[in-house]
Amino acid sequence: MNRLISFFFLIFILAVSFGCKKDSKRRIEKFHRQDVGYSAFGILSDKDYKSLTVEIIFMTGFKPTDLAIDNLKQLISAQCNKPDGVRFIFREISPQVKSSYSIDDVVSIENEYREEFTYRKDLAICFLFLDGPSSENQGSSMVLGQAYYNTSMVIYEKSLKDNSGGFGEPELYKLETTVINHEFGHILGLVNNGTEMYHPHQDAANGSHCINSDCLMYWEAETGSLFSNLIGNSPIPTFDSNCLKDLKEKGGR
Ligand SMILES: [Zn+2]
Ligand SMILES: [Zn+2]
Repeated sequence: MNRLISFFFLIFILAVSFGCKKDSKRRIEKFHRQDVGYSAFGILSDKDYKSLTVEIIFMTGFKPTDLAIDNLKQLISAQCNKPDGVRFIFREISPQVKSSYSIDDVVSIENEYREEFTYRKDLAICFLFLDGPSSENQGSSMVLGQAYYNTSMVIYEKSLKDNSGGFGEPELYKLETTVINHEFGHILGLVNNGTEMYHPHQDAANGSHCINSDCLMYWEAETGSLFSNLIGNSPIPTFDSNCLKDLKEKGGR
């Protein structure tokens, strides 16, 4: 008898889940519309998600360099427990040739072009690479990248290209690596924004950043101050021991 009930219950569940298929896209989108840091545990740990999909959406002419993508891959494999692997998907879109992009512009581009969403044991994250600067730039104070939802990041690639490669300027891949990895650090909940601090090290005056000026999560790492910091043989910043400890405690490697 109990088995019969279970059988009908299963049929009922199947019927309901087919009926709800239309709702599933909405649910999926809802998953990707949480605050920055919300999915830190999901990305770091293998408990809920065994693999990661990284969707790179770039406007024609603004694809990030292979070196920067390799550096992101290295960072992910160093910090994230993903036994079923990490998949990168590249999607080229037409430039919109705007003089600047607000976060609302960025969100509508993501809404239009993003195709990879979290499904079962695979968590999806997304980077946009744009052909123009942020509308939040003010004179020499520049925003080079932003993490704006739990799985969404934007890189103002034109600003990186315009300020690299020339005399007295850093190499492009170094700028890209710093900004890409910094925004990914925010998605991982740093600093104290979804991932708890093991030792106190938040530069609260500058938001979710690290007090260590040599750390990748120092606030200047996503601003124009970066240009002079990366010239010549200056190393690309990495997570300091406090940030690494936080990630490990949150389920990372
Ligand atoms: Zn930041
Ligand atoms: Zn740090």
